[in-house]
Amino acid sequence: MPAFDVAVIGLGVMGSAALAALARRGCRAVGIDRFALGHDRGSSHGTTRVIRLGYFEHPSYVPLLRAAYALWRELEAQSGRSLLTITGIVEIGAPESDLVAGTLRSSRLHGLPHEILDALSLMKRFPAFRVPDDFIGVFQPDGGIVRAEGAIEALQELASGHGAEIIREQKVLAVEPYGDGVRATTECGEVLAGCAVVAAGPWLKSLLPQFPAPIRVTRQVVGWFAPANHARAVFAAGRFPVFLLQNPDGLFYGFPADANGVKVAKHHHLDEAADPDRHDRTVSAADEAAIRKMLKAHLPEADGRLVAAQTCLYTMTPDSDFIVDRLPGCPGIIVAAPCSGHGFKFAPVIGEILADLAVAGGTHHDISRFLLKRFA
Ligand SMILES: Cc1cc2nc3c(=O)[nH]c(=O)nc-3n(C[C@H](O)[C@H](O)[C@H](O)COP(=O)(O)OP(=O)(O)OC[C@H]3O[C@@H](n4cnc5c(N)ncnc54)[C@H](O)[C@@H]3O)c2cc1C
Repeated sequence: MPAFDVAVIGLGVMGSAALAALARRGCRAVGIDRFALGHDRGSSHGTTRVIRLGYFEHPSYVPLLRAAYALWRELEAQSGRSLLTITGIVEIGAPESDLVAGTLRSSRLHGLPHEILDALSLMKRFPAFRVPDDFIGVFQPDGGIVRAEGAIEALQELASGHGAEIIREQKVLAVEPYGDGVRATTECGEVLAGCAVVAAGPWLKSLLPQFPAPIRVTRQVVGWFAPANHARAVFAAGRFPVFLLQNPDGLFYGFPADANGVKVAKHHHLDEAADPDRHDRTVSAADEAAIRKMLKAHLPEADGRLVAAQTCLYTMTPDSDFIVDRLPGCPGIIVAAPCSGHGFKFAPVIGEILADLAVAGGTHHDISRFLLKRFA
């Protein structure tokens, strides 16, 4: 009999959530990561992530988001940590933009609270913004911030508290079917389990070269910009919401000011393919310029000194939808690639889904959009 029911490979937010869900159900679970807790090599590091309900990407994400909000609140109660801050979110662009049209479609279909603000009302309500007359904003009161690093710590604490074993700083070299279960070969030996959840983020293809979907790893940059002294108040939490903004250059997002300033980034950034083991983690003038152009146009008072910047990786699918499925030909290996730059907010519900697949063989959540057969 293998030592573990389930081995979770990769302890970014997705693997950590799966490990916590498995351990809570009484599974003998082990989680393995090649780096230390809090490392900044993958996709889950940094202080904050956006959470929102009226999902512009597709309305079918909304039921998962409702479940995720409830699970984040449950994790806060269990861990005694504050993980969600609800600031409201304003999503800004031309009415026919993917962002605005998609948010309205989801919000209307699911009866979600939202307000439509024309350009003038938007700038009056949130004086930091400058937008052209033909832009509108959709304000959703449920939008806000997930504390990213705190969330991963809370999930791993919960997993350990329920008896999960955590192995850090040990690379898994291979994972394959073995007898009735699976074998994960690490730098230090072998781990045998009934099945495996692979949540290796940008390293998915290096661990499972036979993985049948065309995923692409891309380099991202986020920056913190110091607001002008006289304008600090308009960027403060409570006054300034989380925002998404789509203009002809792309989609941008940002947060109320923290100690470093206003955190802003361009979704997809320069869309550069990256090798997760060798990508450039320095931030260049071109990186900064890509973000600053939006600040000059739409948030001029935040176009101050770049106080801090960080790189991060997206693991993109061609359609930007997640992958959560069994590896074809290896039913004991369940693969989770819920990134495409928007997965963090879903982590607790993805963890439950992965635990359902590992323990019960199926899930009541609708994951039809995430199956590998769409790439066949
Ligand atoms: C800049 C940026 C901004 C984002 N903003 C948002 C946002 O606002 N809202 C939102 O919802 N989402 C957002 N996302 C997306 C979200 O962060 C990701 O969907 C999520 O972090 C993916 O987590 P993961 O666990 O799949 O991957 P990762 O965090 O990369 O974790 C994978 C783990 O696997 C480990 N690993 C890999 N290979 C091996 C191996 N061979 N052996 C052992 N361990 C291994 C790695 O060390 C790593 O810890 C953003 C992402 C980025 C990069």
